[in-house]
Amino acid sequence: MPDGSFPEHLLSLPKAELHLHLEGSIRPAVVSALTARHGIEVGEEEVRRRYSYTGFLGFLEAFKWVTSFLRTPDDYALIVQDLGEQLLAQNVVYAEVTLSVGVMLLRNQRPEKNFEAILRAAEPFESRGLKLFWIFDAVRQFGPDAAQQVVNAARNTASKKIVAFGIGGNELSIPTVAFRSVYDSAASLGLHRLIHAGEIGGPEKIREGVELLGVERIGHGIAAIHDPALMDLLANRRIPLELCPSSNILTGALARQLSQENAAIESHPLPQLLRHGVPITLSTDDPTMFHTDLATEYRHAHRMGLSESELRSLIDYSFAYTFQFGVDGYRNAYQS
Ligand SMILES: [Zn+2]
Repeated sequence: MPDGSFPEHLLSLPKAELHLHLEGSIRPAVVSALTARHGIEVGEEEVRRRYSYTGFLGFLEAFKWVTSFLRTPDDYALIVQDLGEQLLAQNVVYAEVTLSVGVMLLRNQRPEKNFEAILRAAEPFESRGLKLFWIFDAVRQFGPDAAQQVVNAARNTASKKIVAFGIGGNELSIPTVAFRSVYDSAASLGLHRLIHAGEIGGPEKIREGVELLGVERIGHGIAAIHDPALMDLLANRRIPLELCPSSNILTGALARQLSQENAAIESHPLPQLLRHGVPITLSTDDPTMFHTDLATEYRHAHRMGLSESELRSLIDYSFAYTFQFGVDGYRNAYQS
């Protein structure tokens, strides 16, 4: 623990959120409203029970369950409104939000239609000071053909609000190299590239993302602590890790990386990675499913021993590594 209490004034500073899943941000009351739209009564208590799972696969099951109620474009509009309110309440002024387009396609939905509704729901938040951009995300275990369909959906949607393509899901399933042409195709559309890697997988998953797929940010990447040469590479090439500490505790990812049965937040490698020079952005991942918000994550980072200036550097990094602005561009945009 550092000396002193948490510098509360940091919470009122504007922040950016770069690793946040729309479908993991639905508050229990809104989940109940969603299920009711489709004729199924699910009380908030039951939602909370479903959000109490153990381990990574349990989390994926809960994610699958909640997304099964996202059936129409209006359903997506409802959850975007819910997310926008949550972000404004935390002084988030900029977010790149991940959309599980792979799941939309699996359910035979038309992502273009869902995205139209998402943009309409997001629009009113612009004038309230919240800029929202979107990341089209494929599910690794669905395979490269399905991932290519996600890229195609981004191409067909052709919106400047889509800034990146990425893959998430179970990183121990299909080998990274299988997605090479999918990422090439995303790059040819001008999309930035991301990957969830080194969350439950080893550091080689991170290296593969960088070297085979040309990714520009890594989702999680906590496995980098096992490979100092990889930490050097991330530091030298300025490839940030989007760290989500609460997520790593609740999915069991941190315990797994540390070869422990359980892991405490104080044992998170965020300080070690940051002090090695790796750019770090702090995020919530699936905040309602991990019972967290951005303020809680900053408090966690303080408990890990970060000084006030290190906490401020996390805020700066989150703006510096947006795909839209960069930290100076962002400040200029805000001053105008
Ligand atoms: Zn994630």
